[in-house]
Amino acid sequence: MIYDLIVIGGGPAGMTAAIYAASEGASVCIIEHNDRVGRKILSTGNGKCNITNMYIDQSCYHSSSGTDFYEVIKKCTPDDIRNFCMTMGIHTKDKNGYVYPYSEQASAVLDGFRSELKNRGVEVFTSVHITSVEKCGDVFKAECKEGLYTGRKLILAGGSRCAPGTGSDGSCYNYASSFGHGIVKVVPALTGLICREKYFKELHGVRAAAEITVKTDGKQDETLREHGELQFADYGISGIPVFQICGSIKRLLDEGKHPAVSIDLAYGIQKERLYEIINGIFLRCPWGSVSEALGGFVNKKLAVVIVKEAAVRPSAKCSELKPTDIIRICDTIKCLKATPSDTRGFEYAQCCAGGVSLEEIDMATMESKLVRGLYFAGEIMDVDGICGGYNLTWAIASGKLAGISSGKKYHD
Ligand SMILES: Cc1cc2nc3c(=O)[nH]c(=O)nc-3n(C[C@H](O)[C@H](O)[C@H](O)COP(=O)(O)OP(=O)(O)OC[C@H]3O[C@@H](n4cnc5c(N)ncnc54)[C@H](O)[C@@H]3O)c2cc1C
Repeated sequence: MIYDLIVIGGGPAGMTAAIYAASEGASVCIIEHNDRVGRKILSTGNGKCNITNMYIDQSCYHSSSGTDFYEVIKKCTPDDIRNFCMTMGIHTKDKNGYVYPYSEQASAVLDGFRSELKNRGVEVFTSVHITSVEKCGDVFKAECKEGLYTGRKLILAGGSRCAPGTGSDGSCYNYASSFGHGIVKVVPALTGLICREKYFKELHGVRAAAEITVKTDGKQDETLREHGELQFADYGISGIPVFQICGSIKRLLDEGKHPAVSIDLAYGIQKERLYEIINGIFLRCPWGSVSEALGGFVNKKLAVVIVKEAAVRPSAKCSELKPTDIIRICDTIKCLKATPSDTRGFEYAQCCAGGVSLEEIDMATMESKLVRGLYFAGEIMDVDGICGGYNLTWAIASGKLAGISSGKKYHD
């Protein structure tokens, strides 16, 4: 059988594309190499699936190909996504802008997708790994061990390389390249940073509100400034603020640069005021040890590290401190060093930066500018969002557009 449309990859992007193409009247099949579609959805939002965000603008995304991609998102607003969820029988809720299924169960979203695929008559082939694709005349041929799938249109929606255990092995980049599409170097984004300092071993498990900033080869980078809950781990640092800068840090490291992260554990408090607070704490317990007393301001494990980094003996009595010691302690609270050597890699990343270059994709339709009838949807492309529902938003918005245009174009 020759399908009107073959979709490779049964993630949110591929499933959305298939649903919209089928609703345009096209015969559609999805080819997924896992034994079920949408496995990654189950891990999203800690199992709750943060599907979109009511606050959205261009600055929530990165791409090395300008900003045209944002037109795709403008055509599929957070309200459109919530309505799309409703058509799949999923009621959503808005928690401070972050949108989740009302049940807060990612499995509800996956079930909704699966039943909508069925309603729309989309054929789903699972446990099929496509090994090569080509266009022969007007027909695309997708080959796998078991045989061949043929279609008049093809959507590549195989995701990226992150969390490979969920099926994203990066294989679809090869098919895009085989059609002549350029691939912007793919790096892990939204993951933790491995740091050189030995003290992170002592800080494992600590969480603290902080602001992080980055200096690269001594120069402050104002675009890399985030705050929120930082998570310390034996390898380095993690948590949402770190996720947001990690793709940029990886690129800097790959360019041979030396980014240095500074952790401000008292952000919002000026240095002079911090000195008053810390000095006040030390004055109140002259016979207590400095590290114990500092536990009145920061987590106890952090207190020990800060005191050591400030070159003060942790067991020293508060009464022994000189003003210069207190200044050094305050400076360390405002600027604890974290020197990244790498990210935690694709295995732990929630998305990838880089991917199929947008230069050769028509953002009005998601169709390739190089090969007629070839489309792209989702994370496979060079667009990555920050944490907060923005990556699923991109997957659904680009999937919708690819589905509508490939489904419609069939009738042109
Ligand atoms: C732990 C975790 C938590 C996350 N939480 C959130 C969140 O709360 N909110 C948010 O917005 N984003 C979140 N994300 C990111 C989001 O899940 C992805 O951006 C999104 O799933 C991308 O959708 P996609 O369809 O493009 O790719 P994927 O979801 O990766 O789907 C691609 C599919 O293609 C299949 N495939 C690949 N190659 C082939 C092949 N050769 N043959 C056949 N099948 C193939 C894969 O098995 C996979 O099922 C999270 C990611 C992770 C890992």
